[in-house]
Amino acid sequence: MQRRDLIKGVITGLAALQTRTSFAQDGNVVAPLDPALASRMQYKAKHFDQDFPDDYYLTEPQKKLMLSVVGKIASAKRTVGFGYFNLMSLDELLKITVNSPLSAFNRFELDFIEATFFRDARAYGFFGEKVSSELTSKIDASKTNKIAGTGHYLYQGRPEVLYAELKKDVGADIVLTSGIRSVVKQLDLFLAKAVQCGGNLSKASRSLAPPGYSFHGSGDFDVGKIGLGADNFTDTFAATDVYKRLLDLGYVNIRYTETNFYGVRFEPWHIKV
Ligand SMILES: [Zn+2]
Repeated sequence: MQRRDLIKGVITGLAALQTRTSFAQDGNVVAPLDPALASRMQYKAKHFDQDFPDDYYLTEPQKKLMLSVVGKIASAKRTVGFGYFNLMSLDELLKITVNSPLSAFNRFELDFIEATFFRDARAYGFFGEKVSSELTSKIDASKTNKIAGTGHYLYQGRPEVLYAELKKDVGADIVLTSGIRSVVKQLDLFLAKAVQCGGNLSKASRSLAPPGYSFHGSGDFDVGKIGLGADNFTDTFAATDVYKRLLDLGYVNIRYTETNFYGVRFEPWHIKV
């Protein structure tokens, strides 16, 4: 444990130094200065679903908190509905849960939420930029539209126009699979992934941006092929005709490429706006 912390500290320190000097702000892929760190990150992103000894693991008590937080968020989700949950802020979450003895968060759970949001994700080996720095940030629902038949929302303006163009050009079998996500929504997705990963937050962050680091808060969205279901979020999507048409039409502007230096797996389904 001590050794792991030491390694983590060294990597984080090194990373802090590197990110400031060698990563572009707008998500351009630029290699870190240290080739050893660069190749380690690429190796992990490629083998995103493996556990590594220098990954960031939650302790047993933290894992218990994670499970109780996930359970309480799930009950709030049932209350507001899965669609609106995409936009829900932390204040709304707390308001909904505060009066129920079963779902009200205790202070340890609130501390856990706060720690998860404010922890520097470079500790996980995730090098994307922080897009939303406020845990309590709110999405202005009046600037969004719910996209019929998807249960997801897009911002009015560029994201909505781009999605309409995609539908028109690519065809009827392309569908929005994830749109705007609030900090709470991203927290919920990240923790659900972390549960699947047995509390290995590095492994979770290789597949899903930690809360505050997702560009889904600022306009990016995911598309898939109708009928492909969960496989839309796997490499299977890159083999579909929908993806090929996206590529041919020049729509593919991938945020997380196959050889990215963010410590994130290849995500061909993610549309950068
Ligand atoms: Zn995405």
